[in-house]
Amino acid sequence: MFFILQTDPYQSKREQMVKTQIVARGISNREVIEAMLKVERHKLVPENMRANAYSDSPLPIGGGQTISQPYIVAYMTDILRPKPGMTVLEVGTGSGYQAAVLAEIVKEVYTIEIVAQLGLRAEKALKAMGYDNIHVKIGDGYQGWPEKGPFDAIIVTAAAQKIPPPLIAQLNEGGRMIIPVGPSGGAQQLMLVEKSKGKTKITKMLPVRFVPFTRDSLQHGESSTLNMH
Ligand code: SAH
Repeated sequence: MFFILQTDPYQSKREQMVKTQIVARGISNREVIEAMLKVERHKLVPENMRANAYSDSPLPIGGGQTISQPYIVAYMTDILRPKPGMTVLEVGTGSGYQAAVLAEIVKEVYTIEIVAQLGLRAEKALKAMGYDNIHVKIGDGYQGWPEKGPFDAIIVTAAAQKIPPPLIAQLNEGGRMIIPVGPSGGAQQLMLVEKSKGKTKITKMLPVRFVPFTRDSLQHGESSTLNMH
């Protein structure tokens, strides 16, 4: 008889990531911290990137796209003030990591990805990890997902030139949206959009650098190869 001790070899890396990159930088939201201790980030990055899955940087995920730096995921999630009963929209599924972090906290996550091969890959990986409250759609997130809205919170993870009006329209009363705004490769700012009593308030939060928000699926991902298993 053999007794095999089941341990997650990435658990200590995850704990280090949360301690040094997230808590040390001032994120104190319990739910965000717990979610990030739990989500197996290494299962959502390409296999050749796994050793770096918990490092303090964004990583390439194929198709010229990136999975955001863990601190940015924590920061944006915290700003949304996620709560268990909420329904959240994400634009820019990418690897699926941000969707998984949200899905640990809220009720339902609807996420849209314009690069089909990325979206399908993320959907498959998330299913295999047991997330049945994440719904992936392939398409242009500019129009949001009106059939499933309005949403309690919206997160956009690609930098737009301006805030898409359909997304503001799909935000619930009291809802919050976080979105990077600015030119591709240039000075971008994370903006917080708050909707309250019919008014929309916009606040500049943090300088950032995100991949661009695109409007044409044929521009991206066609010539790239994905290397995930
Ligand atoms: N949230 C992701 C980060 C993805 S990077 C993660 O956790 O890994 C941004 C993603 O936005 C890219 O995959 C890009 O293809 C996608 N994207 C860009 N413009 C988009 C649009 N108009 N609609 C939907 N997705 C878009």
